[in-house]
Amino acid sequence: MDEFALIQRFFAASPSPGTGVELGIGDDCALLRVPPDKTLAVTTDTLIGGRHFPLETPACDIGWKALAVNLSDLAAMAAEPRWFTLALSLPEPDEAWLAAFTQGLHTLAKAHRIALVGGDTTRGALSITLTALGCIDPHRALRRSGAEPGDAICVTGTLGDAALALQRLQSKADLTTADVELARRLNRPEPRVAAGRVLGALASAAIDVSDGLAADLDHILESSGCGAELEAESLPRSAAFAALARDADEALTLQLHGGDDYELCLCLPQDRVAQAQDALTRLDLPLTVIGQITQQPGLRLRHAGRWRALSSRGYRHFTS
Ligand code: ADP
Ligand code: MG
Repeated sequence: MDEFALIQRFFAASPSPGTGVELGIGDDCALLRVPPDKTLAVTTDTLIGGRHFPLETPACDIGWKALAVNLSDLAAMAAEPRWFTLALSLPEPDEAWLAAFTQGLHTLAKAHRIALVGGDTTRGALSITLTALGCIDPHRALRRSGAEPGDAICVTGTLGDAALALQRLQSKADLTTADVELARRLNRPEPRVAAGRVLGALASAAIDVSDGLAADLDHILESSGCGAELEAESLPRSAAFAALARDADEALTLQLHGGDDYELCLCLPQDRVAQAQDALTRLDLPLTVIGQITQQPGLRLRHAGRWRALSSRGYRHFTS
């Protein structure tokens, strides 16, 4: 199977045709119509085998996650997903692998009505780069720079599940049904696109939590020129997480510094919190207040009645 047969078979027939596609896969460029009253939001993320996921991860989960992490970025800006491109580097044109990969990819694409409109296919170490494009009303994007002292800091869903799942997979622990739930959070994150769009009109700033809460919140603090206080006891946990975390200290570390949550961290004026929580109830998604923005710079955590400074360390490339 050569490159073109491969593209034809696995990528050309996207199950999600999308809107505004004047010309999709098959020419030198895709032609896309951005509605005249919208701003285009663009994001790119790369997943490298062995670095961003274990090489033995099922191909369908890799396909899902490659799109999910990009949708999560669109969600964090309150953008509506429209189109994406896929640059794929593969050691071999493995048909079984490609069939599973595209099944995961196309399933999530269909759920979010985002269309695959082009890409590039090369031979090399396994690497997947997606660029996702979305539309947003001008001046409605949720930037990192809008947080104000006094804002409530909120997160969607629960924190720490994916990091604990990875730790349990890497250990020799006997896996339980709770592990299956956690593994789903690691391998099939649900990007919070609907939540982002609902909260776009209410929040002052947002980021998606991909490198760990402390590290990602710190990006908001840097951009907004303020600090934050967090309450350790408020960090939301799933039942599976509570059942499987080894001890309280480790649980807290995973929730603050573990990666791959793909939840949204949002700053909201206090008088809008109830309305935001109400809106997310309709999406069946909890929104938990975990602290507040302060004028004083730095990140502080209250744990067991005591305050301490919190480092923002998350996963960083190019650091040893
Ligand atoms: P070119 O040589 O002009 O870059 P290619 O031969 O790389 O074109 O690709 C042919 C067509 O297939 C293009 O429309 C391109 O966008 C699309 N394409 C290539 N690889 C992929 C892929 N992995 N997923 C989706 N579309 C792809
Ligand atoms: Mg090309």
